Amino acid sequence: MGPNLVAGFWARVSWSPRRAAPETPRFATQGHTSAVSAASAGRHLQGVAVSFGAPDTLVSDGGIHLLLAGEIYNRDEVAKALGNASAAHGSDATLVLAAWHHWGITAFRILNGRFAALLLDGGGRVVVATDHAGSVPLWLRADAHGVDVSTEAKTLAGLPGTPLDVAGAQLLPGGTGVHRVQAGTALILETVQGEVRTANRVYTWTPPVSRAAVGEEIAVGRVRRLLAQAVQTRLRDDPEPTVVLSGGIDSSGVAAHAVAHSGLVHSVSMGTEASDEFGPAKVVAGHLGTDHSEMTIHSSDLVRELPWAVWAAEIADHTILEYLLPLIALYRRLPPGPRRVLTGYGADIPLGGMHRHTEPLDLLDSVIAHDMATFDGLNEMSPVISGVAGIWSTHPYWDRDLLDCLISLDPGLKRRYGRDKWVLREALARMLPAETLSRPKLGIHEGSGTSSAWTALLLEKGVPPGRVEQCKAAMARRMHDLIVLRTRHPDEISFDEVLAATEKGRTRHALEQ
Ligand code: ATP
Ligand code: MG
Repeated sequence: MGPNLVAGFWARVSWSPRRAAPETPRFATQGHTSAVSAASAGRHLQGVAVSFGAPDTLVSDGGIHLLLAGEIYNRDEVAKALGNASAAHGSDATLVLAAWHHWGITAFRILNGRFAALLLDGGGRVVVATDHAGSVPLWLRADAHGVDVSTEAKTLAGLPGTPLDVAGAQLLPGGTGVHRVQAGTALILETVQGEVRTANRVYTWTPPVSRAAVGEEIAVGRVRRLLAQAVQTRLRDDPEPTVVLSGGIDSSGVAAHAVAHSGLVHSVSMGTEASDEFGPAKVVAGHLGTDHSEMTIHSSDLVRELPWAVWAAEIADHTILEYLLPLIALYRRLPPGPRRVLTGYGADIPLGGMHRHTEPLDLLDSVIAHDMATFDGLNEMSPVISGVAGIWSTHPYWDRDLLDCLISLDPGLKRRYGRDKWVLREALARMLPAETLSRPKLGIHEGSGTSSAWTALLLEKGVPPGRVEQCKAAMARRMHDLIVLRTRHPDEISFDEVLAATEKGRTRHALEQ
């Protein structure tokens, strides 16, 4: 029961001389850790995988070694294309290795999954790749003797040795030399004595900018079929998956399809003393027959989990942190044990749900195109968000095939007859109660009262209303600096101290002006 996969890894590929293995990296992801090592063409790979269950960690074949975090959702398709149907029954890592043997670097254009990969090829080259959405963030840092690659930036930030530039990856500000592998990218690094060279950068996915003008019926049918498939492949035969359920159309749609393919579905809703969506979630749970529970978290406790959100998402964007906070707090309070969680996260991005008041349609389409061009690096869908609680989470709306379909629909199918996310609502028409289908969108941070909680706390501490946003942004940057770049544990970081330091820094800055 539960997920059986590598949730994250750190590994160093070195040539000469070999650096002594550092202490076990301090992952935020809470799983079982195991050491991995391999050698190929004079390169040595040593690292640590953090897993849920007991999966294959490093897989090797013909002098090629692969470390895969996450999972693949088009296993049958890939196995068929390989002409080896039985490949669908082995581990995902074995399947990816077979795909590499068959297609080389373009294998990453074929895989539909939620993964990050590190591969040491027979010629001693290092290949790093993310899925189409970069949904498992992947980081690297190079020095004169090797390359460190990790699914958590914090494990690379304090490493010894002078960092080198890596062309084709994005340097994280802060002087640590840590780079991020961009979404939908595979990089081939050659490690020549004292030098790291990007031999090739391959884009494996980009958001489509073309739009399909299809009729209502075809569009609705397509969305229904692809959502069903995205949910089904993410269940991975787990007998008891969990859906984090707000009672909004996105998560209710995921729950409906999960129930259609699984014996027992747990659903859980969180709220604060200030605000919740318990009523609408209960209606959905009752209709679908899920094993439903509610969790109330005091809003001041919620805001104090911010350092954990930074530790998990490794970002400094306060708006995104605000979205993630309710989920992190919820995951950390679920009963411990193996758990596979499905969310409705991300549906609004290709469907323009946040822009429901944007008129006219061409403008709606432009903002959708803009949002799809700028999602990379926000880390909203990082598995570490739930990994801090030892939980694996996955997001069906960002399945590659469903996402391609949703983005490229004519915007007139996204907003139609005065309804936002019309095509999705129609696709779920026979699966959910009428009141759920017509329920207006409520953002995760709004429904749970998170934004107002952070704001209220700042106002209470004397921050003037006109400066609240600025203060949130500065606090988030400071926490990122302390927790990710200076590798402090979130429990050592207090909200009040960060606020005091932020305010002090601002006053000093103002006096110096
Ligand atoms: P809608 O966009 O129509 O409100 P939604 O609530 O399902 O639908 P979001 O508001 O975008 O979607 O929230 C993102 C996801 O986060 C949800 O799909 C759900 O999985 C999870 N979520 C949001 N709020 C809660 C909550 N209060 N309790 C549990 N999970 C939640
Ligand atoms: Mg909502």
